[in-house]
Order: sequence, then structure tokens, then C-alpha cells
Amino acid sequence: MANKMVITCALTGAETTKAQAPALPVTPEELADAAAEACLAGASIVHLHARNNDGSPTADVKVFKAAIDLIRKKCDVVIEITTGGAVGMTPEERIAPVSLRPDMASLDCGTVNFGNDYIVNTLPIMRQFAAEMNKYNVRPTLECFDVSHVQSSHILIKEGLIKPPYHYGFVMNVPAALSLSVKTLSYMIDQMPPESFFTVMGIGRGHLPGICGAIASGGFIRVGFEDNIYYSKGRLAKSNAEFVERAVRISHEAGLEIAKPSDVRQLFKIN
Ligand code: ZN
Repeated sequence: MANKMVITCALTGAETTKAQAPALPVTPEELADAAAEACLAGASIVHLHARNNDGSPTADVKVFKAAIDLIRKKCDVVIEITTGGAVGMTPEERIAPVSLRPDMASLDCGTVNFGNDYIVNTLPIMRQFAAEMNKYNVRPTLECFDVSHVQSSHILIKEGLIKPPYHYGFVMNVPAALSLSVKTLSYMIDQMPPESFFTVMGIGRGHLPGICGAIASGGFIRVGFEDNIYYSKGRLAKSNAEFVERAVRISHEAGLEIAKPSDVRQLFKIN
């Protein structure tokens, strides 16, 4: 696996709207098309949120199931669902789609400001989520919006709730959370336990610096409309795949091969 870059595509998120980004996939059909295009372009993981037909975020298991089933019909990509959900959802609502046995799920390792919104994950909620993921054989991505989140993950690891290899997701440059810089990223990386992999998720203007930071520090890349809608200053991305294609080109220039979904399953021990 050395020298292979794992690219995750976060197709839609909970906050981005079609008014902001007309190419945003929303319905299960649109999500499946976007996943297939992203996979073809080189993404090995898609990170999935579900929406109602009016575009509002939902944790409805039926909507997640429709999207997952359609994606699996179209391509062999690794599917990671959110358990961050959206503001106002209860922890029980947010964790429920894990019962669909996706390959992976995000596990937010603490509470954080998210612009004017927020995510609340206390240690008891984190334990509950980790236990549910173990029950359904779902691999967590330990999403950390702050250095203290990496440190909180150590508590779950010590309690045996999370098994190696660990996959961290460093969500950086969220408004009102931790900014992205060489120093902040390095500090996050330094806090990880042995047998850890990490993906850098640079939000908004942190998108391209996040890609470069991941390559420079031996991490993996996340792109997609959840994290950023602009391909360049003032120019909206045409699709999720357009972001993936650029991440592939940059990785190739850095001498990296692109991981396939089968590589990711082997690396993260997903079965
Ligand atoms: Zn997400």
C-alpha cells in the first residue's frame, strides 16, 4: 500500500444547498450517479449524507438505504456514512443508519462549533456510537475538528471500543473551529496512536492546502461539495468528480498511485 493515495469524496454534506452549488447531488439517484462518477475519477471512498427531496438533511434510514443500494448497484466504492447528521437530530437518529452495515461511518470525537451551528458528541455519545459500529462491523473514521478530539479518541481506544488500524479524519478550517496550518496539522498528526492512518479534510479555502498538506505528511485526501463548492476563486465546481480528477492529478505529480476500493478494504481491514 505504500505510495498509494486514498481519495474520499464527500458528495453532499448537510449544509451545502443547491442554491449555493447547483450541481450538488441530493436525491438517492443523484447521489448514486455522483458516487459512480467520483469512483470512476479515482475516489475509493464516498462519504454520504442523506437529504429529503426538498434538500433538507435527514437521518431517515429508508433514504440512506435507497442511496446505498443504488450506489452499490452502480460501483464498488467503499461507502462511509455520516453519524454527524445535522443540527437538531438526536444521537439516536444520527446513529440509526449504521444498522444498514455500510463499510465505514464517521465518528465525531467531540463537540465543536460549526460556524453558527454545532455538533455535540459527548464521551457517552461517542461510546454509544462506537459500540453500534462494532455491532454492525462498521469501520469508524475518527473525525477530529480539534486537537482535544484526537486526545478524546484515546479514551475510546483504551476502553477497547475502537480497534486498530485507526483511521482519523482531520476536519480543518471549519468556521469557528480549528484553522488549517502546517503547525495545527502537524500537532494533530503527532497526537495519533501507532497503527493510524489519516485523511485531511480542508474546508472552504482550506481545500487545496489540505490536499498539499496530506501529500506532504503522508496522509490521505478528501474532496467534494460537503467541504468546498469552488473549484477556483469565483468558479463553482461542475461536479464532485471534477474535484476528484484534480486530486488525482496532484497526487500523480507527487509520484503517488491512486488506491482502489479493494486497496482501502485491505488497508482498513474492512470485510
Ligand atoms: Zn459529513
